[in-house]
Amino acid sequence: MDFEDSFRYKGLRQRLVNEIRKKGITDERVLEAIGKVPRHLFMDKSFVNLAYKDQAFPIGEGQTISQPYTVAVQSSLLKVRPGEKVLEIGTGSGYQAAVLSEMGARVFSVERQSLLYQKTSRLLKSIGYRNIRLFLGDGYEGLPNFAPFDKIIVTAAVKNVPAALLLQLKTEGLLVVPLGEGSQTMTRIKRLTEDNFEQETFGEFAFVPMLKGIAK
Ligand code: SAH
Repeated sequence: MDFEDSFRYKGLRQRLVNEIRKKGITDERVLEAIGKVPRHLFMDKSFVNLAYKDQAFPIGEGQTISQPYTVAVQSSLLKVRPGEKVLEIGTGSGYQAAVLSEMGARVFSVERQSLLYQKTSRLLKSIGYRNIRLFLGDGYEGLPNFAPFDKIIVTAAVKNVPAALLLQLKTEGLLVVPLGEGSQTMTRIKRLTEDNFEQETFGEFAFVPMLKGIAK
């Protein structure tokens, strides 16, 4: 890969991995992926020194790059296997997409804000992530032309799971989504059969809201 990394960033990244491990993440493939993704390149220059703190940060357009721990929780719950097709709603900085890509997923990610979509497209190309495809669109609709997906991850808060996303999930597939207003309950839905879904919950998190339509 072709990007500006350094011994110092690698060291900071390893500390971040240890911190997330201490907070209870046990999936080694997730930890390894977080140890590889150069998070400092996904943030505005003014925050670069904070890139390896386990915190969320502003990325412009009123949006945030998720906290690494949250990215690790969602990535663990998805149980991604190499080669799987994963749909992400809410590309944002592209950091979560990069973590899934490092785990071997073929990532399809949708963002509604055109400026973020453009910025992140340029970034992922320059770093060299080629198994991530970005789309400007409304995540409530998913990506019907590329469905079905093995896994779906929603990285913005919704009250109810958008119906289109449930329909675009393979049987046996998993969908991870923060549900609720105010604070959100991390929820994992498994499609058991064509019409049957099972739901489990995994604690409280805070996400920016999922909004309707495409924004300039
Ligand atoms: N996954 C991101 C963090 C996402 S923040 C990362 O790793 O950095 C949530 C993102 O969801 C924001 O960029 C927001 O613009 C986007 N979003 C909100 N509503 C959306 C919708 N309906 N469709 C697609 N993206 C949406």
